Amino acid sequence: MIRKRTGNLIVLSAPSGAGKTTLCQKLLAEMPDMQMSVSYTTRQPRAGEVDGVHYSFIEKERFQAMIADAEFVEWAEVHGNYYGTSRRRIEEIRAAGKDVVLDIDVQGARQIRQVFPDSVHIFILPPSQEALRQRLEGRMSDAPEVIARRLQKARDEIREYRLYDYVIINDSLDAALQELLSVVRAERARVDRFDHAWVAASFLKEE
Ligand code: 5GP
Repeated sequence: MIRKRTGNLIVLSAPSGAGKTTLCQKLLAEMPDMQMSVSYTTRQPRAGEVDGVHYSFIEKERFQAMIADAEFVEWAEVHGNYYGTSRRRIEEIRAAGKDVVLDIDVQGARQIRQVFPDSVHIFILPPSQEALRQRLEGRMSDAPEVIARRLQKARDEIREYRLYDYVIINDSLDAALQELLSVVRAERARVDRFDHAWVAASFLKEE
């Protein structure tokens, strides 16, 4: 099949507890030609997390070696752990003609904007501060001081929402998903994403 457009780079950020992970999974289930770039992290896996699927879990020494070898297109320290996006993984997904989705924090999003100015940045907000607190407390795997730290970080991240192109409030999961799909589909139809050579070859040749 002829590729009529180049793949987009979609950045999704949200304070932890906004429901981004579930939204992301549902988005990918709806859009087969879209793939997450699995990040590297030095944090411990949570219950149910699979190496190579949710993250590539690595030791700090290896992470630092990867920084030194310029293997990350961006990296950040979040809650005392390192997280990074692999340049190679992004390139592989794009080479396969797919959109890449990055689930990264605000610091990472800022760096991605510099490297890929045409990336599409979407911020997910929880419906309220109270809902955010409840969702964070519902995660039994995290200690109270971890929850307090995440709430503070959530405020710091929400302060930066104006850096994004789109904001989606995750009140009802289904409504938020539909909104997210609308954004992703509209971005695919942008004229500057089109393969102009294909249009010329297909329609503009004189008869
Ligand atoms: P968690 O530990 O809850 O999975 O993620 C904590 C935060 O790290 C989230 O805000 C998540 O978006 C962010 N994060 C995950 N992977 C990356 C990455 O590769 N780079 C950056 N900058 N942030 C990331």
